[in-house]
Amino acid sequence: MLSRKLASSMASQEQGDTYAWFSQRAWVEIDLEALSHNVRQLKQFLSPRTQLMAVVKADAYGHGAVTVAQTALQSGASWLGVATVPEGIQLREGGIKAPILILGAAHTPEQIQAIAQWQLQPTIGSPKQALIFSNTLENIQFGSSLPVHIKLDTGMSRLGTNWQQAGEFVQLVDRLPNLHIASVYSHLATADSPDPSIMTEQHRRFEEAIAQIKSLGIKIPSLHLANSAATLTNPQLHYDMVRVGLAVYGLYPAPHLQNSIDLKPVLQVQARVTHIKTIAAGTGVSYGHQFIAPQEMRLAVVGIGYADGVPRNLSNKMQVLIRGQRVPQIGAITMDQLMVDASSVPDIQEGEIVTLLGEQGQEKISADDWAEKLNTISWEILCGFKHRLPRVGVM
Ligand SMILES: *Cc1c(COP(=O)(O)O)cnc(C)c1O
Repeated sequence: MLSRKLASSMASQEQGDTYAWFSQRAWVEIDLEALSHNVRQLKQFLSPRTQLMAVVKADAYGHGAVTVAQTALQSGASWLGVATVPEGIQLREGGIKAPILILGAAHTPEQIQAIAQWQLQPTIGSPKQALIFSNTLENIQFGSSLPVHIKLDTGMSRLGTNWQQAGEFVQLVDRLPNLHIASVYSHLATADSPDPSIMTEQHRRFEEAIAQIKSLGIKIPSLHLANSAATLTNPQLHYDMVRVGLAVYGLYPAPHLQNSIDLKPVLQVQARVTHIKTIAAGTGVSYGHQFIAPQEMRLAVVGIGYADGVPRNLSNKMQVLIRGQRVPQIGAITMDQLMVDASSVPDIQEGEIVTLLGEQGQEKISADDWAEKLNTISWEILCGFKHRLPRVGVM
């Protein structure tokens, strides 16, 4: 692993010899081998007739959309899912040729034109949206038929037409010029819950909608319903394709799904010790002096903060890994830096690597640990790393 290589080259440098290593005060490591492993595991878990869509919205949950998309496609995924038109364009500009479904809403003539131009595939969630698409494509003299994906609301109460109107909705879209229906899909609200009752009801509604559509004699090439949690829960939910985000990145949507397949976390967050000092008992640390040293301690400043994706609400609650040991973070986390109590590593060096998320030796800190402390979900933790830090691929 790169981190270890960097760590050992660091260790061989005399302190004060050079500050070249400060050029990377913090970075995100993306383990593409782990990503490929996760995609292969998922693909093996599916029946051969079920396609795998890698959901790469929000810059691949903070992992880097183009690189993730390329690796996922090489490892068994055949579709990509994004939230917005610009996210789809970014993939096309990165050279990605695979079909791309836009999971979010697009309405404006500019968006529709971009969809047509970049060969993206939109979600159509209402009759009104379908008409806007058809008319706009007419106006720009599109000249062929755009594949669209019909979204039904079976209980998420987000995008989509109510499942009870599935028949008339699909019929309307089916009759419009310039469009053809590539799939019908819905999204589950509670697939990560150990209690399957709401998911079962959504599944029943989806089946009812499909029956309605079939009774009108309309053939739908593809049906899909499952996110990561549903994919790992029940093969009956797989249909023709599954839309997997979180599991591709190596995290489990819920603790009760941890025995389903073997997943490896893809993202690690590393930073460097940028300064070390000894502080006396009674010394206040960071903004607001929320932490007062109870005794003399060895304080290390680490070059990462909340603008990089470390939530400020973890102040005084999180730990980091230094030389395979857990070390407590102290004082308010600031925008670009945070402090740790490194008293347990008395000979700690400036430039030394600190792991915020990831593994060192026997110790491991995961996005799930942070999510639990913050009463949120791992999805949000991962997305926090999409802005500022450079990404380094690790093979
Ligand atoms: C984000 C998203 C997914 C992926 O969800 P995960 O829980 O991360 O697998 C699937 N489908 C839709 C419609 C989504 O918005």
